[in-house]
Amino acid sequence: MTGGGPRVDALEVRVYTVPTDAPEADGTISWSQTTMILVTARSGATTGLGWTYAAPACGAVIADTLRDLVVGGSALDTTAHFDAMTHAIRNIGRPGIAGCALSAVDLALWDLKARVLGVPLFRLLGGADDAVAVYGSGGFTTYSHEQLAGQLGHWVHEQHIPRVKIKIGQSWGHDAARDLERIADARRIIGAATELFVDANGGYTRKQAIRVFAACADQDVRWFEEPVSSDDLAGLREVRDAVTADVAAGEYAFDIPYVQRMCAAGAVDCMQLDVTRVGGITEWMRGAAVAASLGLDVSAHCAPNAHAHVAAAVPNVRHAEWFHDHVRIEEMFFEGVADPKGGVVHLAGDVPGTGLTLREKDAEPYRVG
Ligand SMILES: [Mg+2]
Repeated sequence: MTGGGPRVDALEVRVYTVPTDAPEADGTISWSQTTMILVTARSGATTGLGWTYAAPACGAVIADTLRDLVVGGSALDTTAHFDAMTHAIRNIGRPGIAGCALSAVDLALWDLKARVLGVPLFRLLGGADDAVAVYGSGGFTTYSHEQLAGQLGHWVHEQHIPRVKIKIGQSWGHDAARDLERIADARRIIGAATELFVDANGGYTRKQAIRVFAACADQDVRWFEEPVSSDDLAGLREVRDAVTADVAAGEYAFDIPYVQRMCAAGAVDCMQLDVTRVGGITEWMRGAAVAASLGLDVSAHCAPNAHAHVAAAVPNVRHAEWFHDHVRIEEMFFEGVADPKGGVVHLAGDVPGTGLTLREKDAEPYRVG
């Protein structure tokens, strides 16, 4: 510990598991609950918040491995904390649970730093523009027509969000006929003026993805996410070369070398980055710079309120994902969440940090650790 200034006095971690509001699935996995690992970092009377959506075991990594590295250190030196944490998880393995734990702590430390300095987080990060475009994201393969119409209709016709995404690739690509029906259904629901995105979550083979896209050519699909596995960089490139939609991937990036490999392979038109996985705000900004060096935009993956400020601070951001599951949890758990009306989130220029506060009483019933 060197130098003066405010210290990180405490770091606490809580784990919450929240059931979904209906059965949910994409092309390659189904789920009935979502776990949030929430970190609070305190300096004096000031508290910063960070979180990730991952396995409850993240809580143990934070409590057992990361907490003691951070507590007692400077509340301003986010870089030193990031370096100490990444070194400490070398043998645990950064991609996965440890990377999510690292991300949650980094987010909390950035929020704390902004609050200690009394500035909005997006301004601390260099942002002058307080607006971030968003797209509605959900459209699970488990949804009936009525559920799909309710969700997409809410985003497009009530909140006036001009772009939405649905899941396809049902049953690992074994029900492409239903995928095509649902794409057409979504287009009917949202009308011609709204951009339609699809996400196969790696459910198709290369040629199958190209065939499915050709078969829905009349639906004007603009974004084709993980048409094949995001591990298949050559396959993503092959699909990218064959379709008019932008091909996107990157949600499993846990560090910037991954980002560099994906971008340099020509695998994507837009690089997705998840601040709750890639290494918090510190690594998200580096990842966006790597993408920019190859002429690519980035898009924020899930966890919308964790991304709002960093997305507003980076010039090559296309949009942030307004993901149904996470929106629902963040609106339950936090005061001060972003409002997506009109398809653009505006951040307050006069509130320190993220401006979020935990609604402890509302969150407590879901606490599991
Ligand atoms: Mg996705």
